[in-house]
Amino acid sequence: MTLERPRGVRDFPPKEMHEHLAVTKKLESVFHSFGYERVRTPTFEFLSLFEAKSGEEIKDHLYVFDDKGGRSLCLRPEATASVARMYGSDLRTHPKPLRLYYVEPMFRYEQPQRGRYREFWQAGVELIGGAGPYADAEAILMASNALTAIGLENAVRIGNIGFLRELLGGLGFDDAKQNKVIHALDKGEMDSVAEMVSSDIFNEVIGLHGGLDAIDRLLELAPDGLKASVEGFRKTIGLLSGCKVDYTVDMGMARGLDYYTGIVFDVKATGLGAQNQVCGGGRYDRLIGLFGGPETPAVGFAFGVDRLVEALNEGGKAVETPRCDVYVASVSEAVRERAFSIAAAVRSGNPGLDVRFDIAGYKVNKALQHASEVGARYALIVGERELAEDAVVVKNMESSTQETIGISGLNPYFSSKRAPD
Ligand code: AMP
Repeated sequence: MTLERPRGVRDFPPKEMHEHLAVTKKLESVFHSFGYERVRTPTFEFLSLFEAKSGEEIKDHLYVFDDKGGRSLCLRPEATASVARMYGSDLRTHPKPLRLYYVEPMFRYEQPQRGRYREFWQAGVELIGGAGPYADAEAILMASNALTAIGLENAVRIGNIGFLRELLGGLGFDDAKQNKVIHALDKGEMDSVAEMVSSDIFNEVIGLHGGLDAIDRLLELAPDGLKASVEGFRKTIGLLSGCKVDYTVDMGMARGLDYYTGIVFDVKATGLGAQNQVCGGGRYDRLIGLFGGPETPAVGFAFGVDRLVEALNEGGKAVETPRCDVYVASVSEAVRERAFSIAAAVRSGNPGLDVRFDIAGYKVNKALQHASEVGARYALIVGERELAEDAVVVKNMESSTQETIGISGLNPYFSSKRAPD
């Protein structure tokens, strides 16, 4: 019997797990700095939740199954729909805006390739009950700050599907036809876009690219009824410029999901190949209403944690793996029990310190070799002679210097030598 993993899923041995958690922790600290609170939604939902939002064809991309009662369920492919559902059912009476975030695995039945998995982790935020430029700018600023915090470049590309839809609506395109154009745009099928939309204005708009100059031109091109919407967009961009966010306006940008109603944005990382988008989001003002909740404006985004880690590794900025701080060894069986309790005391006296006891009972030389293999910063050696004087030997593994330290002095000694977090 061969024991293999299903296609498209991953194991996380300690190094990979640590990288994942370290990146997530940094993202979370940025989310907290904006006042976002963590939530959790179910791993599986009714299939209808996603069909309501994305149509029946979404089924082909999901892990769908019937439970024992014959109900059609699926593993969640994303969390925005679930958070919107939760808002509509449990949080609608809470003071708005609500600032929520989640870090959870998502499941999509996709063709696995580099950077594209069938189970992958998203760290996402939803700002619910916030409309207008300040809410949009907060979401983009937070995504940009989070990327800075983990050490990645953060050039954000910003589009405005809401504007494109309104423009198309004015040209007589109903929702279904608008979706077709947006999907073609998302896939870069420009010939097909040109075939569907003959308007010169639309075709110039989707070519607009750059900074505030692109918005100036957009304002010139916009029909009167849409000028206020462009003014709002300009305000968002102005707020981002004021916070030194690195951005490019790209009016030809679309995102596959049908629920976006305003700005959309994404961030691509270098060195990842085809699956290089590490962050995607936008405004979705109709989703909560669609689920029977009160019409509530909202904006959100999600990072793909797997891709963030990969981008850091590609860029030579790999997360440092934790090292052993203190490796505790003993010179003989006679002092081993004492060594065990000294290790316990150092551990409880220095919360956060990684203190490893030599479980194998190696001879001192072998123990020191093992200490070095696990990257220990210090080796604490308990010997009979020193113990008679209530002391132990502490070896600095980097400088190879060693000193004898009284047992009562160990806690202050190690607390002054804590590795930075
Ligand atoms: P989306 O929900 O499709 O907007 O995706 C948001 C982010 O999740 C993307 O920018 C990617 O970083 C990540 N992501 C989406 N699909 C996958 C996948 N199959 N494997 C790994 N990461 C993914």
